[in-house]
Amino acid sequence: MNFGEFLRSARVKRKITLRELSEITGISFSQLGKIEREEHKPTKENLLKIINSLEIDSEIPLRLLGYGMTTNKKEIIDPLIRYKVLVRDNFKCKVCGKEAPRFAVDVDLIVPKTFGGEVTVENMVGICEECSDGRTKFINEEGLEKEFLYTKYKLRNLLKDTN
Ligand SMILES: [Zn+2]
Repeated sequence: MNFGEFLRSARVKRKITLRELSEITGISFSQLGKIEREEHKPTKENLLKIINSLEIDSEIPLRLLGYGMTTNKKEIIDPLIRYKVLVRDNFKCKVCGKEAPRFAVDVDLIVPKTFGGEVTVENMVGICEECSDGRTKFINEEGLEKEFLYTKYKLRNLLKDTN
């Protein structure tokens, strides 16, 4: 199954027309059509709009598209948890050391949800956009696992200083 097929089936299941989805998401009708026909890959921003509008779990679409798993992290992470993590990590990316506000530093799960990781302060780390994207780039399950293990190893060493 590709993302276009996935989107179509999720939309049909919810009895939403392409036109309606266009109105809800603000993405143009023709653009959505192209996405469903696999002529266009949605941008992360549009993907997030689609996921939220159809109230679908983000994991499958992200996997189908090969995007990082935490595209919608802003939606799922409690602001207080995010804040606590950023304070603990001194508003710095724990991978490369870039510091906010000069760089966009956000938080991310150390152990991804797919591997049973939970949204807790302990399982999260301050990470910049670039490192966050880099760590979650994957196409298939194998790629994901490699990337995850690598990051986990890297972060475990870095986190020794903080905990
Ligand atoms: Zn970084």
